[in-house]
Amino acid sequence: MGIMQILDSIPFALDAASLTQRMCLTPGTEDARELEGMLDKATETAKPKAAFRECFIEQKGEDTVTIDGVTFTSRALRKNLDEAERVFPFVVTCGREMDRIVYEREDFLKSYWWEEIKSDLLKIASDHLTSVLTSKFALGKSAAMNPGSGDIDIWPIEQQQPLFSLLGDVDDAIGVELSDSFLMSPIKSLSGIRFPTEVDFRTCQLCRRNNCPSRSAPFDKALWKSCRS
Ligand code: SF4
Repeated sequence: MGIMQILDSIPFALDAASLTQRMCLTPGTEDARELEGMLDKATETAKPKAAFRECFIEQKGEDTVTIDGVTFTSRALRKNLDEAERVFPFVVTCGREMDRIVYEREDFLKSYWWEEIKSDLLKIASDHLTSVLTSKFALGKSAAMNPGSGDIDIWPIEQQQPLFSLLGDVDDAIGVELSDSFLMSPIKSLSGIRFPTEVDFRTCQLCRRNNCPSRSAPFDKALWKSCRS
């Protein structure tokens, strides 16, 4: 069984033009220059990171799957892992270095921009991990599931506990802590299991939330019904 591996020198380049556009700022204005200054600060500060393991599935039950001795309960996860033998539990993060810079609460705009920069760093870390798994572990087409995303009972957030225990000391490795309510700190972190699949899958297909700005796939009622326990 593989040990936890750490990616703590993830290269990144923040895209000022795209962030300026997303924040609805006009290039050259004072606000746009302010944002550019924050991007420079983030470039000096940020250390996005990832931790992951290469694991093998030991057992599949009706609604459970046991991976290297740790059992997860989720019909959706079990269904998604029907054809899988090898999986990659992971945690990626913008890095706690970014949380050390805090803007005054009253400075709502700057706080918001800083959070958006952290989101971009998280996405960079996540994409980097996927490309490492693809190139170094010969993972072909893949998808991921994340505890607590999608509808509440699809893969309950409490399952963060076994996920973290499967990885090891994630706090020591990449500085991501799990709270008693199973939330991660830094908030801009993402945990999950990546698995090989020929089928396009996104958790949003199992989520009934309306008007989510981050939705990446439409709700799939038939799939949702098939994953209900
Ligand atoms: S629709 Fe939004 S809340 Fe639901 S899983 Fe997708 S991104 Fe998450």
